[in-house]
Amino acid sequence: MSEAAVELRGIHKRYGDVVAVETIDMAVQSGEFLTFLGPSGCGKTTTLRMIAGLESPSAGDILIKGRRVNDVPIHKRNLGIVFQNYALFPHRSVYDNVAFGLRYRKCSKDEIRTRVREALRLVQLEAMEERYPAALSGGQQQRVALARAIVINPDLLLLDEPLSALDANLREDMRLELKRIQRETAITTLFITHDQSEALAMSDRIAVMSNGRVEQLDTPQVVYNRPTSRFCANFLGNANVMGGRVVGGEPGAWRVDAGGREWLSASTDTWRQGESVAVIVRAEHFQLDVSSVDGEVGNALQARIETVDYLGMSARYIIRPEQGETLELIHGVHHQPLQAGTWVRVWMPADDVILLPPGDVTALA
Ligand code: ATP
Repeated sequence: MSEAAVELRGIHKRYGDVVAVETIDMAVQSGEFLTFLGPSGCGKTTTLRMIAGLESPSAGDILIKGRRVNDVPIHKRNLGIVFQNYALFPHRSVYDNVAFGLRYRKCSKDEIRTRVREALRLVQLEAMEERYPAALSGGQQQRVALARAIVINPDLLLLDEPLSALDANLREDMRLELKRIQRETAITTLFITHDQSEALAMSDRIAVMSNGRVEQLDTPQVVYNRPTSRFCANFLGNANVMGGRVVGGEPGAWRVDAGGREWLSASTDTWRQGESVAVIVRAEHFQLDVSSVDGEVGNALQARIETVDYLGMSARYIIRPEQGETLELIHGVHHQPLQAGTWVRVWMPADDVILLPPGDVTALA
């Protein structure tokens, strides 16, 4: 097997009494775009700062390309780093900002010129090399910061919320740009965000973090469709999480009671009859008004819309089924959302009824 670009072995970090990172064991493959996703305070930045060499772990080892780097200072780790505030040198031109790392490495003038121009071409700022940071927009400044980070041909690119200071439209453009640049350069990239859509759109894999741990590490599709914990289900997208009980069935076709009704789940795990489970159904996975569905299919129900939140391209509804508890549902909207009081027919595919060990779900029920 090829050597991992980065490996974290039993990484732990505390500041006095505060545990910032509980334990992390993971490997990042060469060329991968891996995102640390999690709420504020879960330990994302601390993890990245340890990989960068800005903090040392209280326990555990960090390996870059198979070499233990715990005691290697930041400037010897060959990293490109971009933070939220671009930290450009205000009194240097775009060209000189990007050339900085190459001059530090004592590259020749000709080499510097070739590489700076190549980096500026990658971020589409060729025409702006004479400008100063103050004369650039936020998005352009962030591109310069990116060019400065990649021009040294780093082993690793570390990005800590690099898009969060940009407005919503620019942010979407920049995430496409960033992904394109990462593909073109194939630099192993570790990216931090607390924005789930950013993580889903950009990553090869997502490490979902909570309380100083990685809760799930997988591709965007798996993390989204097959969350392995209640936290992951709730953090990515909107989920109905119910305490439930297995009433019968077999792997691939379980019947569970939850939220005052019976659900059919295609979970392939093995459960015991009567076992407590967490039943998770995503608000976005409900199919609305599917006329071909009849009661035989399972998970089809008639419900009345109680509240409507119009979100633009979609709407978030709270629906009250004829039996059982209310459910949250998100559905695409063409012009007008459905009105409160409307009766709808909804259906949840058994494939999308996720069963997990109950954990702390009973506390919610
Ligand atoms: P955010 O998204 O808000 O940046 P984060 O997930 O990056 O959050 P960290 O900045 O890694 O979280 O912080 C993790 C925990 O460690 C927090 O509880 C934070 O208060 C604490 N912490 C971080 N740095 C220090 C420090 N230098 N001294 C004491 N506690 C710290």
